Amino acid sequence: MNELIGRKVMKKELNTDIDISSAIQLPAMKEYGDKIECGRCGMKHLKAFVQLSQNFYFCPSCIQFGRVDSQEIFYHLPETQIVPREVLFIWQGQLTDGQQEVSQNLRTIITKNRNGMIWAVTGAGKTEMLFHAIYEALEEGKRVGLASPRVDVCLELYPRIQEVFPEEPIALLHGKSEIPYNYTKLVICTTHQLLRFYQAFDLLIIDEVDAFPYVNEQILHIGAQNALKETASLIYLTATPTKELLQKQKINELETIILPARYHRRKLPVPKLKWCFQWRKAINQGKIPKQMLSLLHLLMKKNNVLLFCPSIIVLEKLYTLMKKQLPDGMVAAVHSKDEERAEKVMRMRKNEFRLFLTTTILERGVTFDQVSVMVLGAEHRVFTESALVQIAGRVDRKMIHTNGEVWFVHDGQTREVKNSIRQIQQMNKLAEEQGLVDELCLL
Ligand SMILES: [Zn+2]
Repeated sequence: MNELIGRKVMKKELNTDIDISSAIQLPAMKEYGDKIECGRCGMKHLKAFVQLSQNFYFCPSCIQFGRVDSQEIFYHLPETQIVPREVLFIWQGQLTDGQQEVSQNLRTIITKNRNGMIWAVTGAGKTEMLFHAIYEALEEGKRVGLASPRVDVCLELYPRIQEVFPEEPIALLHGKSEIPYNYTKLVICTTHQLLRFYQAFDLLIIDEVDAFPYVNEQILHIGAQNALKETASLIYLTATPTKELLQKQKINELETIILPARYHRRKLPVPKLKWCFQWRKAINQGKIPKQMLSLLHLLMKKNNVLLFCPSIIVLEKLYTLMKKQLPDGMVAAVHSKDEERAEKVMRMRKNEFRLFLTTTILERGVTFDQVSVMVLGAEHRVFTESALVQIAGRVDRKMIHTNGEVWFVHDGQTREVKNSIRQIQQMNKLAEEQGLVDELCLL
């Protein structure tokens, strides 16, 4: 029966031996005139478009989770009691002053059951700031969810959270997982998996809230809302908040905590600009633009270089040209359709390549030692303000400083390019005003 607590699932999704006799039954779909609303993802469709036969409809919006149709029923059990308990929490690390303040403010927001946003710069050390809040919530008997739009973020979070709560059973849920679902007080899942929950969480934290696909999929937003209990706290984590989140902050729907500095007390590297006239034409003609090549050689004297390309086509052309310029094995390229992607990223982590060409797939969620970053064609529409801030944020994340630099190579500056630089500068200024950064001692 525990399987049903805080869940909303159809019979076909349950193990056959589960007794559903005392479960609450909820309609799978609700009719509103000529429209019909899905009980799982909340989307409304015109009946005429989703009709299977007479008075029989289905929802196309969430069909990837198994079909919801008007003949189905959802089974649900509410969580009736919140019982305080003892939770083993072992974490020996120390928070910086900035992290400490965020951690404290976060706990205050959660105690008030308010919604909040942690806006912490790339490489600030977000996960550590959550530990105490999660610990307190669990000790109060609350059910806690940690969700991210990206599976790899969930996979990285899971061992880190399990390590600090060694006795806590944690459910790790994502599309590729084959482990059967079990009730746990602590859940780590993709934002898609939230659609199977209903009034489950007292505290729900969504990491990388501005990342694809959460950022532009309405069903995931509805899923997150429905996964919350009536009295609960929803916390968003981001380094690059969307306009919608900033708007919510303005009207005080979200209590916002800003952490403008990284844990190592150095400022964020500010991107530098290099104008490269008609770079695309040059590459199409089989030439690497001279300014770009000399800059690359300069950067590679100190660090490895991550070179972001605006498309797979550009990436492949440039890769062919670069292989002729550099000794064998020094350069590699990766993109979303590359089957060896994970292996290449791992090899880059081991510093096996000096130059690593990539598309925006590596804009976030990865940390390499000793890198500088170059963005080729920074004016391209794939390089939004948040993508550029995230890309710039790949540099200087480790404790040891290696003089990593960020360069935007462009053929005409866009508003996104200017705004991304302004955003980074503003965060640095804020960090300085709050005394969270030190002057860099160059040896
Ligand atoms: Zn649906």
